[in-house]
Amino acid sequence: MQVKRTLIMMLGVATAAFAHAQANWPTKPITLVVPFAAGGPTDVVARTLGASMTKSLGQTVVVENKLGAGGTVAANAVTKAAPDGYTFFIHHNGMATAPALYRKLAFDPLKDFEFVSQAVEVPMTLLARKDFPANNMQELVAYIKANQTKINLANAGLGAVSQLCGMMFQRAIGVQLTEVPFQGTAPAMNALLGGQVDVLCDQTTQTVPQIKAGTVKLYGVTTKKRVKVLPNAPTLSEQGLKDFEVVVWHGIYAPKGTPRPLIDRMNAAVRAALKDPDVVKRMDDLGAEIVDDRSNTPEALQAWLKSEIDKWGPVIRAGGKFAD
Ligand code: ASP
Repeated sequence: MQVKRTLIMMLGVATAAFAHAQANWPTKPITLVVPFAAGGPTDVVARTLGASMTKSLGQTVVVENKLGAGGTVAANAVTKAAPDGYTFFIHHNGMATAPALYRKLAFDPLKDFEFVSQAVEVPMTLLARKDFPANNMQELVAYIKANQTKINLANAGLGAVSQLCGMMFQRAIGVQLTEVPFQGTAPAMNALLGGQVDVLCDQTTQTVPQIKAGTVKLYGVTTKKRVKVLPNAPTLSEQGLKDFEVVVWHGIYAPKGTPRPLIDRMNAAVRAALKDPDVVKRMDDLGAEIVDDRSNTPEALQAWLKSEIDKWGPVIRAGGKFAD
């Protein structure tokens, strides 16, 4: 009887402590895991949101860059983090392509995470190094076809959107280029600026400053329609790559088991940040479109991820490019 009373009391204390922890969340800094190198497009989005959420949450949102395997190393690490509301993860289309790209993926994107919110949608741009011997799309395709064994294509690893875009581009023009993977497109861009690599497809959140500075050659954008931030840039689709479209979306996730009240608070914090005028201006300057707030719920992210896994699976499998 005494033991039973003690156990009930302890349970009561534990429950009270848990409720207290939830009620006072956050009481310490929050980690936002970014699966690519600092300074790259995913990092830019994470740090911009993080700075704004730090203001509204009253605790620092610390960005932690966990690198490797096109974002799957970070994703796997987050599934093993404590579901206590102090670890969150930002990832893009890579969350949807990984199941088709990796035969032995250590996590299930639909089962091993809690869904928090979406963030921004970003167009990509097809670039080459400044001195690349092609001045428009036609010349680019002709030169690549004639020299495909000599040309390399940078990306941020298998599962990165730079890899996805590169794969779609190669397929669209019927070539196989040497791919040079980096831990993110920040180092890939440095290699492009240094002339060590030839071609890169990357998000406007990284490329707009370089394009405007004229330090890279731009051939087009990967959206179906032209984009406001680069009004004179034609789409790949209008230049003959029929129906070519890669738009980068971003989801924010937490380890499975993170309590729903904390998920809802984090969802609210992200949505508040997406309304913050500083965030709105920065994203607008970099060509990122903020998602519609009305549909920015955890359930909407889960449904969207499922639809993207279903969409990209067959596309990727058709190309027969996987990793064990
Ligand atoms: N998101 C980029 C990519 O997937 C990489 C990065 O953010 O650095 O290609």
